[in-house]
Amino acid sequence: MGSARGSKPRLRELVETGDIAELRELEDSVSPELVGLGRYLGLSAKRAVEIGRALGVRTAAEFRAAATEGRLRTVPGVGPKTEQKLLDALARPEPPKRPRTLLLHRARALLDAIAADLGGEIAGDVRRWKDAPETFAVVCRGEHAGAIIDRFERHPQIVAVVEREGRRAIGVTVEGIPVELVVATPQTFGTELMRATGSAAYVDAFEPLPSVADEPSVYRQLGLPYCPPELRERPFSDAPPELLELPDLRGDLHCHTTWSDGRAGVYDMGLAARELGYDYLAVCDHTLNVRVVPGLGPDDVRRQGEEIDATNARLAPFRLLKGIECDILPDGTLDLPDDVLRELDWVMASVHAGQRQPRAEMTRRVLEAIRNPHVSALSHPTGRLINHRPPNALDLERVIEVARETGTALEVNGLPDRLDLRDEHVRLAVEAGIPIVTSTDAHSVRGLGNMPLAVATARRGWATAADVVNTRPLEAILALR
Ligand SMILES: [Zn+2]
Ligand SMILES: [Zn+2]
Repeated sequence: MGSARGSKPRLRELVETGDIAELRELEDSVSPELVGLGRYLGLSAKRAVEIGRALGVRTAAEFRAAATEGRLRTVPGVGPKTEQKLLDALARPEPPKRPRTLLLHRARALLDAIAADLGGEIAGDVRRWKDAPETFAVVCRGEHAGAIIDRFERHPQIVAVVEREGRRAIGVTVEGIPVELVVATPQTFGTELMRATGSAAYVDAFEPLPSVADEPSVYRQLGLPYCPPELRERPFSDAPPELLELPDLRGDLHCHTTWSDGRAGVYDMGLAARELGYDYLAVCDHTLNVRVVPGLGPDDVRRQGEEIDATNARLAPFRLLKGIECDILPDGTLDLPDDVLRELDWVMASVHAGQRQPRAEMTRRVLEAIRNPHVSALSHPTGRLINHRPPNALDLERVIEVARETGTALEVNGLPDRLDLRDEHVRLAVEAGIPIVTSTDAHSVRGLGNMPLAVATARRGWATAADVVNTRPLEAILALR
């Protein structure tokens, strides 16, 4: 947005011509392919475009050719050191060391689209549902790799293929994400899929893998029980437990509505949850302490309860639960009085403000909250935001110990940037016999669709249906109070 003076003529131009010359110019000079390649090489978008402009190139191939001809050193600001760095990066056979990450839901969408286009399957960290994936791969089957790699090169998400060798290619997206394509022969597809899925530590333990057409056959020939991708972090050869599955869930125990910072109303959220096949959905809006968004005080909670009652009459036998996401105050007390919490069906407690407390204080604060008998579950227990904020200093093992005494559940929050508890923490909780809640923390109807992320994270923590509270029927949830 420019100043009023600057933007008016442009606005008029847009109205009169349906176009803004300046925008067109910018579009012409910014090649998404160069930006993607630049990110892959560790350059900012601006710098990649500057260098491209100075070289008079617009495509990744032209950039590469200019670099090999030694023309990079003619670009202002590119000294011999930078030139060497870029040449090394261009020559690198493997994706760059510095990991490029996408949040898991975007990574799934990206690879699903490419795999669907090529008739392949997704692999890498993304297939294992790793929370901050760093390897992105698609495995296809075909006698002849050339045509499939050509098609990969033309895929709208791929701006440049930076490596192409035999049955393998690496393409880069506009965000600079390197996607590896492996074209296996039909006879070795299972083997290549398992290799590309990883983890490296897991696969290496079973090499040499037999060359077979499908993955279950790899396991059969190795004499191992099949292992779901979510558990392939460290090698083990016992039969894995029967992990939680999405259809095991009877409801979602954490969502927001327009009463706080959600985008849909109580009725619309309930209707959407009913359409997902759930029996119940807990409405858990924020309390006042959260401040950055609207929160509910005691009167609001009671008024919302009336709306929920009226809505339930329309949606029965589906049930909206009267819940709250109650802030845990810095001293460990809760942001609503006990007599209000007592009337609710489901109480999530969470830390939102004051997350920099030292470990002892933070732990005391959380323990105090879960000792409150009205608290059903601790929401996003560690408070981490993937790529943005480290986990709170919290003695999680102590929290698990006390949760076992108090019968408090721990949440696996399915927001793509939270996934909290994370896999290894889920496993600690499951081993301690602590009930887990997989929830979406949806702030919109669409947000309810993030449940697969929570389920996969729970699976990575070895959770079975019996470990998860919201696999239980409605009556069992109500009986917890
Ligand atoms: Zn929250
Ligand atoms: Zn929430």
